[in-house]
Parts: sequence; structure tokens; C-alpha cells
Amino acid sequence: MPRGETGSQRTSGGAISIVGLRKEFDGATAVDGIDLEIEPGEFFTLLGPSGCGKTTTLRMLGGFEQPTDGHIFLDGVDVAQSPPHKRPVNTVFQSYALFPHLDVHKNVAYGLRWRKDLDKRTRDARVAQALELVRLTEYAQRRPHQMSGGQQQRVALARALVLEPSVLLLDEPLGALDAKLRISLRAELASLQREVGITFVFVTHDQEEALEMSARLAVMDRGRIVQLGTPQEVYQEPLTEFVADFLGVANLLDIECLPGSAPTRTVRYGDFTLEAQAPVGGDSTARRAVIRPECVEVQEPGLTGANRIPGMVDGVVFLGSTTQLAIRLPHGAVLQSLVTNSSGRHSLATGQPVTVHLPSQSLRVLAASMDHAPAALAGDG
Ligand code: ATP
Repeated sequence: MPRGETGSQRTSGGAISIVGLRKEFDGATAVDGIDLEIEPGEFFTLLGPSGCGKTTTLRMLGGFEQPTDGHIFLDGVDVAQSPPHKRPVNTVFQSYALFPHLDVHKNVAYGLRWRKDLDKRTRDARVAQALELVRLTEYAQRRPHQMSGGQQQRVALARALVLEPSVLLLDEPLGALDAKLRISLRAELASLQREVGITFVFVTHDQEEALEMSARLAVMDRGRIVQLGTPQEVYQEPLTEFVADFLGVANLLDIECLPGSAPTRTVRYGDFTLEAQAPVGGDSTARRAVIRPECVEVQEPGLTGANRIPGMVDGVVFLGSTTQLAIRLPHGAVLQSLVTNSSGRHSLATGQPVTVHLPSQSLRVLAASMDHAPAALAGDG
């Protein structure tokens, strides 16, 4: 079967609707009321720090964990009480757990052994298709120990795909691989998902992985979804300090909001008045703003104008394609700026005076209230 055909068979299903999903373990809340819609064929990621409840959410989707409360609809059918094998879902775990005594073909075929409706020829054809999808056709006769970690994880993927699920759940599937392999497999996995067209729900604590691969992602904290959006939205428009900080390097500025209304807000920062993007709902009690280092522009000294502050270079770290600059401001705060080295023009040295430009479209006031949501764990809520 040509590559891609499998996908065209499956794109009709795979819609997930999660309503009020909760899970308690011995009185401690692991998942604290999640509502979420995932589109058929979407690459969706649950991202968050260790213990935030992402694996528990995935395990409830897979049927390995029973919800304490709430509903999970797969293509409109409530599956919350169905066992794993009754769901059109398959899971790929971090540990690929292949059978060491079986070759790759037999490992992949293993899941089809219950499919008495398929004759041997059909089963072999499906295994061959799955191996072709993960680019392992030539490795069919090898045993797992004769393959690299990345290849073994691709076998695990083929083993899940051969069952033609509507939804594939992936629990940190790249976590056991070394950093370089992880990066190359990210692109492969994203392209495989586009090819097969089935819904992927991916769990990771690695923000780069989530940003690179997902169509949309949910950032989780203490059992709750704290922000949902495309990678660009969540990275560039974080709503809270937690999200800003978790997704990459963030300059967090102590500010005071001046009276005014959205969409922009005037803020005091040290002795300076800046224009910034206002948080949703125009929270005037906010005390913090964020700007990403790559948005902090370092200009020649003496420039004045909107959102410009004099500063002094406090540190220079050459990183190859970029240089990281620390700029000290008159009130003592230090901002990080990341500049590209394309023209070699950023030959700045410590002690040099500069002007820092914080473009108003990149400077965002963070919502104050959302970071103080009640703790979801330890049974204190
Ligand atoms: P990690 O990235 O470390 O896997 P996670 O975000 O996937 O973390 P979960 O594994 O979902 O987090 O765990 C959420 C919370 O629920 C944690 O506090 C964890 O200790 C707790 N928990 C998970 N499984 C159980 C269990 N079987 N019994 C008791 N508590 C559990």
C-alpha cells in the first residue's frame, strides 16, 4: 500500500471530548476538572512539569485509569467506563517493551493475533505497511537488541499503528532516547502523524518538543489546564507567570499597572513608563510583565522614544549562532537579550552603555489572579 493510504482511511474518526474529568488517588487530586476538545487528526500535546497530571489524563483516555468524575467521549461515544481493548485507542509508552525473542515483524504482528477476522496474508500486509510508515522495512527480520533505541521506539510505534486506532496516545515516547536522537525523531513523528492522519495525544514535560510538534497544546499545572492554544499563542502570549516561565526563557518584570483599559496598558517599570499588552480581562492588580529575550532589542546608547530605557551591558555569552546579553537597567534590574550573530555586528562588551527597546507588542502584562489557583494536590483543595 502506498504511504499515506492508511491515513486516508482513518481521518474520519478520532474526535475527543473531555468533560469535567477528575481523578483522585487516596484523597489527593491528580486531575482537577479538565474540559477539552481535540479535533480528529490533530497533533495535541499535554505539556507540564512532573506531577501535573498529564500521564493520569492520558491513562484515563486509554482506559488504564478510571476517572473519579467526568466523561470522555471518543467520536461521540462515552468511553469513561470502557476497558482499554474496547476503545479505538492505542498507546505508545516511554519504555518500548518489545519482546526480545521475537523479530521486528513478529513484534509488530503480535497485536494482530486476536484479529481472527484477518487472514495471514492480510496481517502480513498490514505489518509491512506499518513498518514502511516508520521506515523499517529492511529491519523486519532483526531482533530488538540488534537495533538502536530510536529504531526500537519506531518498532513500538509500528506495533501501535498496525491496529489502526482512531487515536494514538504517546506518553513521553522520546524520553528514553539521547538528546540528539530525540531531536531527529521529533520531526519524524510529526511527519508520520500528518501521513497517517489519526489523532495523536502526546504527553511531555519538554517544552521544545511540544512547541515543535503540536498543532495545539494544553499547559497543565497542578491537575488543571492553565493555557490552551497553538504553540505560537502559548509561547508568545502566555497568560500567567507559570506559563511564561515554563515555556522557555522569560524576562519577568516587576511592574505597576497605571489606570487604563485593554487592549494595551500603561505600566511603571522602575522610573520608566511603558506600553504593554494587557492580559485578558484587563487585570489591574497585575504586578508582573513578560518579554522574551529574543524580543529585547539592544540599540546604540542615547536613543529616546517609546519603551526605550538606557542600560549597560552586564554580561556577554557567545552561543554560536546567537549571543546572550545581560543588560543592567538604572533601577538595578537585569534583562536578558538574545541577538543573532548573522552580521557579526553585536560586538558588545561588558560595561558598554546601550539603549534597551522593549517593543510594546512583545511586552505582556501577566494575569495576577490565575497563578494563585488553589493547589490541586495533597488533598488541600
Ligand atoms: P510525570 O511527568 O512525572 O510522569 P505527570 O504530570 O504525568 O508527571 P501524573 O503521573 O499524572 O503526573 O501524576 C499526577 C499526580 O498523581 C502526582 O502527584 C502523582 O504522584 C499522583 N499519582 C499518579 N498515579 C498515582 C497512583 N497510582 N497512586 C497514587 N498517586 C498517584
